[in-house]
Amino acid sequence: MYDLQLIGVGKTYPDGTVAVSDFDLAVEPGEFVAFLGPSGCGKSTTLRMIAGFEDISNGDILIKGKNVSATPPEKRPTSMIFQNYALFPHMTVRQNIGFGLDVKGLSTAEKNAKVDRIMDMFGLNEFADRKADRLSGGQRQRIALARGLVVEPDILLLDEPLGALDANLRRVIQNELKLLQRELGITFVFVTHAQSEALGLSDRIVVMNRGRVEQIGTPHEVYAAPATEFVARFIGSNAIIEGANLRIEGDMASVETAFGRLRGRCASSITPGASVLVAIPAEAMRIQRTGTAGGSENRLHGKVSMKHAVGSVGHFKVDLDGKQSVDVQTSTDNEALMQLAIGDAVIVDCPSDRVTLVGQG
Ligand code: ADP
Repeated sequence: MYDLQLIGVGKTYPDGTVAVSDFDLAVEPGEFVAFLGPSGCGKSTTLRMIAGFEDISNGDILIKGKNVSATPPEKRPTSMIFQNYALFPHMTVRQNIGFGLDVKGLSTAEKNAKVDRIMDMFGLNEFADRKADRLSGGQRQRIALARGLVVEPDILLLDEPLGALDANLRRVIQNELKLLQRELGITFVFVTHAQSEALGLSDRIVVMNRGRVEQIGTPHEVYAAPATEFVARFIGSNAIIEGANLRIEGDMASVETAFGRLRGRCASSITPGASVLVAIPAEAMRIQRTGTAGGSENRLHGKVSMKHAVGSVGHFKVDLDGKQSVDVQTSTDNEALMQLAIGDAVIVDCPSDRVTLVGQG
């Protein structure tokens, strides 16, 4: 049985804004799922509908097989962690964490035992009696997590919980979050607009755009095999080249482009007759001096227009006949390539199994 199912879920706000439409998703027990997309694409609205803070306009939400569409939030087996943590500043750490248990009618002894256990787990014991507004961002973040988990939810919902932290602390807490999720085996649904966070933390990513699901897949799937133009542009760093005259050959296809015929895997968004885009990941492109033997199909001719090195990675910008430029990376260990100078003629190529053809729009 799935832990969470969204079936044709949609949300239209009273002012007519369609925030979410036709959202289908099935989440396995213990999965870590991220909703990823730009601001305003409907991530938080969907999370709030799962928590019960927002009514559903269409469709149904099931938790562990039970339809909770009409169940009030406090009766759902979910906990939500908000971006601003929503702690009570004048309550102590202990009171904040215990708050969720107060409404559950536990005895004081049971409540204290649960709060003590979770404070132990999060290393919060020494702050137990400190007021929440006297703590650092990272500590507040841990309290918010502890407060969400102390009620032992089936599903933990996290709405950009790392957004308020600086980059270093964010990395530390990301690692902790992943370890914690593995240890507890609780299903996590995590909202973020940061692709690195979604790619690094989750088992599966739901890529959203304008209230719709563009693709659901593992981080590797959405990264290496984007299903749509939006995903190809939003995830990773793909060179996007327009194509026409589609020729399908099994699960591969080729199109005519300004740089010759290019070949790649065929995404499901391709429909015969529609415009096609070729998505080539920057890290799958190889660069070589024109005239050098070797190289695979999908060869693009151009000139080096920019070059710089950051650490062990060499970055080149290659101008393709003045029509478009692509970014290519290489290891700085490759001395022959690092000797390339601006203006040198080069060939950029990419094996077709790393290239994806997606429908335009
Ligand atoms: P995200 O979390 O991806 O940034 P939201 O779910 O917050 O997106 O918002 C999705 C869309 O719904 C946006 O266009 C937003 O302006 C709109 N929206 C959010 N909350 C409300 C509301 N209470 N009333 C009307 N429109 C809303």
